[in-house]
Formats: sequence, structure tokens, C-alpha cells
Amino acid sequence: MLTRAKSNDLIAPKFLPQYAQEAVPRYTSYPPATGFRDDLTEEDWARWMKNSCAAPKVSLYLHIPFCKSMCWYCGCNTTIPNRRDRIERYLKALHQELQDRAAELPADHVVEHVHFGGGSPDMLTPQEARSLLLAIHQHLNLSTNAEIAFELDPRGVTQELADALVEGGCNRVSLGVQDISPDVQKLIHRVQPLSQVEAAIDILRTAGISAVNLDIMYGLPAQTIERVQETAKAVADLNADRVAVFGYAHVPWFKKHQKAIPEDQLPGPEARFAQMLAAASTLTQSGYSAIGFDHFARPDDAMSQAVKEGRLRRNFQGFTDDDYDILLGLGASAISETAQGYAQNQPDPARYGEAIRERGSAMCRGLERTPKDRAIAARIETLMCRDEIELAELSKAERAALAPFAREGLIEVFDDRLYVTKAGRPYTRNIAARLDPRFAETEGRHSRAV
Ligand code: SF4
Repeated sequence: MLTRAKSNDLIAPKFLPQYAQEAVPRYTSYPPATGFRDDLTEEDWARWMKNSCAAPKVSLYLHIPFCKSMCWYCGCNTTIPNRRDRIERYLKALHQELQDRAAELPADHVVEHVHFGGGSPDMLTPQEARSLLLAIHQHLNLSTNAEIAFELDPRGVTQELADALVEGGCNRVSLGVQDISPDVQKLIHRVQPLSQVEAAIDILRTAGISAVNLDIMYGLPAQTIERVQETAKAVADLNADRVAVFGYAHVPWFKKHQKAIPEDQLPGPEARFAQMLAAASTLTQSGYSAIGFDHFARPDDAMSQAVKEGRLRRNFQGFTDDDYDILLGLGASAISETAQGYAQNQPDPARYGEAIRERGSAMCRGLERTPKDRAIAARIETLMCRDEIELAELSKAERAALAPFAREGLIEVFDDRLYVTKAGRPYTRNIAARLDPRFAETEGRHSRAV
């Protein structure tokens, strides 16, 4: 009789159009943000803070919604400011929000993770970055071992900025590489020779930031399997600690700038799937461990350790080793999370600033989670982070909905547990959707699985 581990390794993933092209939530939250409502109030947030556990672990996310120029594939909440004072006004509001929200946290909180995302946080001047980091040190109980991470555009990295980040305690950076081919870079309006990425990493590592994450993509115009492999090989050669592999989501009706992407040069669904597999096998052959379905980490990285110890989590940034009780999201579009629910800020940077100035809060939508939501969230998170779930937790209807996945070898049952197989990993989001009673209501409002 086969052991589960051997059976799991037997079938390689294959392209299954009914799942690869199905629009399913990313499950970076549950319920997904598409289910957030407009009636969330400050009183709800205050109650959640009051009910939070003793000595909560807090993570901080700060959104910097500015970039120097627009990449045509971009799906982030960002803008290209025409005047520097727009950034300055925004930062003033961000400082205010940081101070106010920090004061509402239980006094015995401890901050273990800080993440600056965007946009491009390298749009901050060294002085602005210093001042924000100083404010965090001043207003929050920052753990001495806290991870402080910045997303950076390699084209915006300077020695002065790197020095300011290190001075403020930054110890991890994420840089977007996407694809190293000049042809692809031209078509996505993000020209950054590999030498520029190498130089940026060199500056950051020499300044004292040892942990470097790199992001690459598949499904971009003019991408081929060979180009994806070359890119994956390049990021492995750059010795990235973690690599995230994201599929390009083409939604030009929603993100207007994506209209500049030549659709006739986009790879089809099967080619996208092959590119995704090519990136994964290049990275695993280069010594990386696969984490979930789109992350890869060096075996000695904290995320690989979290997998071994069963501590991997999933949040708005994807897979993470961050096990916060409270996520405080600051800035335009940022989402805060507690066990009780989610609260999202106004997405438009100018309106965010106005809301902070005029009423001291930019929270505009969110959702209070019911005990049932929390139970479903825990099941989906377990499935996504551990590739398994207790069979007893599934209803008869859910087992029936999952039967086609078992027939395709994407899941299997051993010892009263349901496991996602190696062949099923690319379809984990589809499998999770069968555990989501709200999925039918939101169908069609998500990105496709692969
Ligand atoms: S740098 Fe990042 S956030 Fe800015 S436009 Fe490009 S992809 Fe979007």
C-alpha cells in the first residue's frame, strides 16, 4: 500500500482549464474584501480594540500609494504624483493616523512586524523614511526583534535611502524583478536591466539589510517558458531569501492603464500554466522550498521554518510567518484586522488625507466576522497553509463538491484527513472555494486561479 507521501509525489500538476480559468478569491482574508460593507463605524473598531486579547501581538502595515511611473501590468492601489507636496500632505495625515491608532491599542501590545507597501515606499525621501520609522519607535511598543520590511522598486534604491532604512531598523526588503527580458520589460513599461537590480541589492546588503525577497511574474506579454526560467534562475543566482511568483491579472476594464498591454502578445491559459510550473521547478531545483502555491524560500529562511513548525499563515500580503492578533493598516486603502473583523481605509490618497484631517479617521468599509465566518476562515487558512484539513470538518455537501477534485487526483484522503496533492497545489484556491459558502454570491469578481 502506498504511503500518502509517495502517492502525493506521483502525479505532476497538469493544466485543467475548468479550474485554471475559474475566477476564485485569493483568500488573503475571509470573508474576502469583495464582501466588505459600507456601514462599518468607528464605534465597531473601538469595541474590537476593547475586546482584544491581553498583550496582543500587533503588526503594522503602512501604505505609500505613490510611484515614479506606472507599470502597465500594475494591479496595486497607486498614483503618479505630479507634485511633491501631494506626498508631503499624505505623509502628514499618515503620521496623524499612526499616532491616533497607536494610542487606541491596548497599552501592553507588542509590535513584531512592520511592513511598508505600496506603491513604491522608495518614493519617500531618506528624511521622510527616517521620520516615519522614528514615529513608529516613539508611539508603539516595538519588539527588539521586530521584522521591519520595505517593498522597494530597484530603480528607486539609493545609498542615502538604504542608510536611512537601516538606521530605522529595516531588516528585510522586497524588490520587484518581474521578468529580466528587455523585450518583456519594454512591453510592461518597466525597464530595469538586471545590472540595476544587482546594484540595488548590493547597496541594500552592504548597508546591512540581509533579508532580500524578490518578486517575479508569469503571464506577461511576450513571456515564454524560457524567459520565465531565465528570470527564476537569475533571482536564485542573486540569492534571494524568498521569491514570490505571481500571475499577471489582466483586468483592463478595472485598471485602465492595462489597456496599454498588447493583448495579442499575452500567453494563453495553458501557456500561463506552463510558465508557472517552469518558475516553480527552476526555483525548487535551485534549492528553494515551495511555500503554499506561489512562494519559495531558502530552507534557512524564517518562512521555511514556519512551515516546518506548522506556523505558516495567510494574510493580505499572501503567505507569511506573522501570527499577529491585531493588524493595523495605515494609509490609503490599508486594511486592519482583528479576530472580530476587518476595517478598510478610504482608497483614494487625497480623500484619505481629507478624512484624517476632517474627522480623524479614514475607515470607510469593512466587516464584522461572525463565529461561523471565523470557523470557515480557520479551515480555509489551514487548507492553504498546510495543504490538509480534518475530514470530520467537512459537511456532506462540501464532500460532494470536492469529489471532482478527488477524481482528478488533486486531493486525497488518508487517515481521516483530506490532503491537497502535488498535482492539486496550483488549484488550492479552487479547492478552498468549495469550503466557502459565500463563494457563489461573489463568483466572477475575482482573479483566475492560475
Ligand atoms: S512600481 Fe509597483 S506599485 Fe508602482 S506602478 Fe509599478 S507595479 Fe505598480
